[in-house]
Amino acid sequence: MDGTGLPETRSTCPYCGVGCGVLLRPDGQGGLDVRGDPEHPANYGRLCSKGSALAETVGLEQRLLTPMVDGKPAAWDDTLQLVADRFSQTIADHGPDSVAFYVSGQLLTEDYYVANKLMKGFIGSANIDTNSRLCMASSVAGHKRAFGTDTVPGTYEDLEEADLIVLVGSNLAWCHPVLYQRILAARKARGTKLVVIDPRRTASCDGADMHLALQPGSDVALFNRLLVTLYEGGALDAAYLAHTNGFDDALNAAFADSTAPCGLTEDEITAFCNLWMGTEKVVTIYSQGVNQSTSGSDKVNAILNCHLATGRIGTPGCGPLSVTGQPNAMGGREVGGLANMLACHLDLENADHRTAVRDFWQAPQMPHAAGLKAVDMFKAVGDGRIKALWIIHTNPAVSMPEAGAVRDAIAGCPFTVVSDITAQTDTARLADVLLPASAWAEKDGTVTNSDRTISRQRSVLSAPGEARPDWDILSEVGRRMGFARAFDYTSPGEIFREYAALSGIAGQFGRDFDISGFADISDSDYIQLAPVRWPVTPDRTGGRFFADGAYYHGDGKARLLPVTWRPPASETGPRFPYRLNTGRLRDQWHTMTRTALSQRLSAHLPEPFLDIHPEDAAAEGIDASDLVEVTSRTGTCILRARLSDTVQRGQVFAPMHWTGETAPSARIDTLVAAMTDPVSGQPESKASVVAVRPY
Ligand code: SF4
Repeated sequence: MDGTGLPETRSTCPYCGVGCGVLLRPDGQGGLDVRGDPEHPANYGRLCSKGSALAETVGLEQRLLTPMVDGKPAAWDDTLQLVADRFSQTIADHGPDSVAFYVSGQLLTEDYYVANKLMKGFIGSANIDTNSRLCMASSVAGHKRAFGTDTVPGTYEDLEEADLIVLVGSNLAWCHPVLYQRILAARKARGTKLVVIDPRRTASCDGADMHLALQPGSDVALFNRLLVTLYEGGALDAAYLAHTNGFDDALNAAFADSTAPCGLTEDEITAFCNLWMGTEKVVTIYSQGVNQSTSGSDKVNAILNCHLATGRIGTPGCGPLSVTGQPNAMGGREVGGLANMLACHLDLENADHRTAVRDFWQAPQMPHAAGLKAVDMFKAVGDGRIKALWIIHTNPAVSMPEAGAVRDAIAGCPFTVVSDITAQTDTARLADVLLPASAWAEKDGTVTNSDRTISRQRSVLSAPGEARPDWDILSEVGRRMGFARAFDYTSPGEIFREYAALSGIAGQFGRDFDISGFADISDSDYIQLAPVRWPVTPDRTGGRFFADGAYYHGDGKARLLPVTWRPPASETGPRFPYRLNTGRLRDQWHTMTRTALSQRLSAHLPEPFLDIHPEDAAAEGIDASDLVEVTSRTGTCILRARLSDTVQRGQVFAPMHWTGETAPSARIDTLVAAMTDPVSGQPESKASVVAVRPY
């Protein structure tokens, strides 16, 4: 309570994967007061600029308040029946793989669970993928190859216990600001060293001891040099290596790669390798600069190889830590929201796993193979293989690579449903059916942040108009498709209990994801649920992964992978001489549907821009603030030039937030080619090739 007498409610920030706790107090007029939750283990009261502006983004302007069919308001009952009938008819006519769901890390775990169950268990296709494919699919693939499961071994507390923190392809200061604040506090308290590995000099470099401006895509070469240095320096942990396989092959690959170019001087490489080798407690944090690459999975494994070879994993202050972009990207991975996974880290291709999930769900059919990953899914929409598509809380007409082609594909799809909180997105404008969903602060459920902490998001505001929670909408469609018993949910707590019980079955297969301690959680305990890091076993105790050297491959050992450097898929040349890096700004989020509602946030960097090195600008005849035309094989954008030596010569940077709604000439992902990592399917969003000239 405060002086107003209104209670505060604990919830979680809806933006990034840090998963900060917030305290919400309705103002009685539809608005909120928001402050950081001093007791939440992710942030202990801290918030970044986006989190502290949340109260400015909960107004009803731009909200979608009723279902819409062909641009006209429609009744829920008729609309839900239309969606169920069209999906059922399409499946009857063309088979289960003719439909697809494209979902989002904005979904709560309970929503995600229902969507995944409906598609994989009852429609019988694995054509459900998520915009998390654009975010951390390469980390998932790297974890599975090394550990046997998609386990994130690190925790946020490790940041306070490490003596060296290495940021790889991560502008943590802008993209996960509260974690960066924790690192700065640790530096002050104990002198933690900080190294940033990034082609661009970002805000994260301001507080660093070392910035290694490597060439885009060359992370594997650098970490292979580190592995060789660790071997030659006698820094391997032989006892821990006994818990692994593949070291010799990984080392041979690293030696073979030892002359691969990474754009750094020998002095820089030696200084980094010696610092890493000489520091016992090392945390390596990596993000989109690693993942969004055609060699993203190999980059992840090159990093994991070094931690495994030295036993710097699973103990306080040590380990790799993949930080996720979205509030529930991790929850989506756990719940099977990716086209190649089952719920609870069970494997789609494993017949025993499939049978166990099918029996648990009492499902009529299960797909036997992975479904279409995001890039392939929209190609299938474009060539007519997908004939009914449901897009939930994401804006692929802007955010997918080759966004122009994706927009055309959605426009040409025979039946497209979009669930969102607004009709004013590039994607929503293409929909045949729009379904109004409840927004953050109006809906209830759980999310999992980057260090496996499950937190509640709680409803404190009434959903406006006819908006409904996603789990409710999905369940209603499932019932109307003929699966009444399986989707007879009445609350998110009921879904959470079922999910927790399923995780107990996964535990019987030796899987890591276990929250079976919640299988009998009461409604009131679910409502009160405090943040908790999984695993949560029946005795309600968790634990640290990998300290004991036990892994999830069949032999119980980890794998070191032989990986070698590969350049980005697109080559620069006379026609496209610049390499385009894309990324986030400090005060914007995704395609700005929420953050643009805050004048304060929009004032930070109010218009789209292109950072170009001053010498490149001079060579192109470009002055500061000129408009420039940026062209790739797939699109053209008009942007404001900023002359900056934060980018290297031959490289340019542009933020990815603007849309056809906010700046039609600045849809950056129209420039990005749909090249993907062969293992993870994640697109290469940071190494496109472009031409730049005055506009
Ligand atoms: Fe929200 Fe991320 Fe900022 Fe925390 S760091 S307040 S989760 S945007």
